[in-house]
Amino acid sequence: MARAVVTGGAGFIGSHLVDRLMAEGWQVVVIDNLITGRLENLQHLMGRDGFQFLQHDVCEPFDIEGPVDYVFHLASTASPVDFVKHPIETLRVGSYGTENALQLALHKGAKFLFSSTSEVYGDPLVHPQAEDYWGNVNPIGVRGVYDEAKRYAESLVMAYHRYKGADTRIVRIFNTYGERMRLDDGRVVPNFVCQALRGEPITVYGDGSQTRSFGYVSDLIEGIWRLAHSDYHEPLNIGNPEERTILEFAQMIKRLTGSSSPIVFQEFFTPDDPKQRCPDITRARQILGWEPKVSLEEGLLRTIEYFRVRLAPGDATSAPA
Ligand code: UDP
Repeated sequence: MARAVVTGGAGFIGSHLVDRLMAEGWQVVVIDNLITGRLENLQHLMGRDGFQFLQHDVCEPFDIEGPVDYVFHLASTASPVDFVKHPIETLRVGSYGTENALQLALHKGAKFLFSSTSEVYGDPLVHPQAEDYWGNVNPIGVRGVYDEAKRYAESLVMAYHRYKGADTRIVRIFNTYGERMRLDDGRVVPNFVCQALRGEPITVYGDGSQTRSFGYVSDLIEGIWRLAHSDYHEPLNIGNPEERTILEFAQMIKRLTGSSSPIVFQEFFTPDDPKQRCPDITRARQILGWEPKVSLEEGLLRTIEYFRVRLAPGDATSAPA
């Protein structure tokens, strides 16, 4: 039976990956310091055979007892609100955290997968973004703590692969949404859906002409699963090329929730907000035979249902407004 360590396994994407690994019969050890992850995401696994949770900051050295076959390094803040609130932690988890996770993989003879991001492309000058585009990042901007941490981490992973023989993979994750996103994480999906469901104004930043391409979490997990079993070592984009302006996205959420919320325009939350983002997924198609299966509308309907339950009065798990 295979045994995986998942750093950041209490987070939105991490917990879905843990579910997949457990469903495939793997044993899983989650390491998470719970800065942005939540135990609630793993509650259904607590006490289950083959599942273990360790509350630990991966920036501090750690060891795991027993054999480890795979290290999935997902620990990081991921929302602009979170990386502005935790800038140093964001830089540290990309640097110290990634090195500690790589050291664990080397020492255990385990394979390694790193979750990178479309933010390595910054505010891209090339569209759509293919993996061979080097990006346009402001290193000293407020988003730089996340972008540069991930860029450094990719560099570190490739150096461990080239010079130490580590068996590594890098997934560049584009905007992903679905159940278990935090209601208050500040990203566009929870913000717009919660605003629409509460009948509050839907806050479009800027003029809403910036674009994003949203992928549903189950498609991402399938892509990660396939990449983990491939022998491909260079970065690989996983995302859904269904691109929308943020204004169109606000209108779509309004329609799907049946909300009468007004759409209002506000200042950008951060400078350097990327103007266009869409993955070129040719590489994922060719190497993994992967492509997204869940349409934006279908994925959003499932996500809206999740938030609707969480926002219902009397739900013990609902977050404060
Ligand atoms: N955004 C918005 N209103 C919000 C939250 C986000 O208009 O309440 C915009 C944000 O400026 C960006 C896009 O939605 O252009 C996606 O933002 P998010 O924070 O989800 O992720 P990003 O892709 O910027 O990391």
